[in-house]
Amino acid sequence: MRIVLSLVFCLLLFGCSPATEDVRESRFMMGTLVEFTIHGAPREQAMQAIKAASEAMQQAADTLTIYGDIENEVKAFNASTPDSPVLLPEAVSALLDQARDIERKSHGAFSPSLGGLSLLWGFSGESQRNQPPTANEIREALAGTGPERIRRADAPPHTWLRLHPQTKLDFGGIGKGYAIDRGIAALKAHGINHALINAGGDLRAIGRHGERPWRIGIKHPRQPGEILATLELEGDVSVVTSGDYERFFIDQGRRYHHILDPKNGWPADKSQSVTVIANNAMLADAWSTALFVLGTRGFALLEDQHMDGLVVDAQGNLHMTVGMQARLQ
Ligand code: AMP
Ligand code: MG
Repeated sequence: MRIVLSLVFCLLLFGCSPATEDVRESRFMMGTLVEFTIHGAPREQAMQAIKAASEAMQQAADTLTIYGDIENEVKAFNASTPDSPVLLPEAVSALLDQARDIERKSHGAFSPSLGGLSLLWGFSGESQRNQPPTANEIREALAGTGPERIRRADAPPHTWLRLHPQTKLDFGGIGKGYAIDRGIAALKAHGINHALINAGGDLRAIGRHGERPWRIGIKHPRQPGEILATLELEGDVSVVTSGDYERFFIDQGRRYHHILDPKNGWPADKSQSVTVIANNAMLADAWSTALFVLGTRGFALLEDQHMDGLVVDAQGNLHMTVGMQARLQ
């Protein structure tokens, strides 16, 4: 009788599918295929959780993007008159604080104020370049980049000023990780304990994949479709990779790609790809971009903050922190 009752209850609640299989769903968001894998939850519950997670992620992406037709406060900030205060949504203001903290800790290798440069290079916009901008154009956009080009207003809260006509925010180096974190938070709020959100190789895992840890691959930067290494993850772990193969063009035999060195405005030249493991995807995302710019000299900064990293340097040689070595398969 009790079994029948619980079956009826289960049917009412979730349609009663077995909870031992994976529920997998994909959504196209943030210019990439985002894959949700949920383990150990009834299908109906998993599907509701995925719906909430993908909505949260899309919303996060929409509030941060500086591309496309969607209106948001970040675009309004970028178009605002210099020295005039602009109110940002609380979450965006908090993310800007975090981004500026990472800018400081990475000695400027990561910068949320390089939007002018990003738009100039145009890797994420609609029209793609096949030649670099001129040195003059780069110098001009570079003048708007740097921690001293943005300031928080004394009041009201979450109000910011840009201090130079070329200054533009760009959350491209941190936003995907931030969105993944929002997605995981939504899954947890729906009672999901074992899940993986993988946004084109940038991911966060919680729990386990049944009897086993989650198993993920790190892309090879020069052999498309090949895996450089695999990692086993359990608990709550984020892994993000930044690579010069993601968005690039070749001009006169030289590769120009989307990760820029905020010191000179040109594509960073120390790495082909880097991977960072951190406690959340926002940190892993921002630091993978920073480490890409810094190359192996960024390892000490990562380790100071209990993160691990792997660098494929410009020559294709593999380097990693001690902690990464221990995790690698
Ligand atoms: P990711 O793929 O996470 O390394 O981020 C690259 C994106 O972040 C680019 O498309 C730019 O929008 C932005 N970006 C490029 N270089 C930097 C940098 N040094 N610091 C912060 N954001 C950057
Ligand atoms: Mg990044």
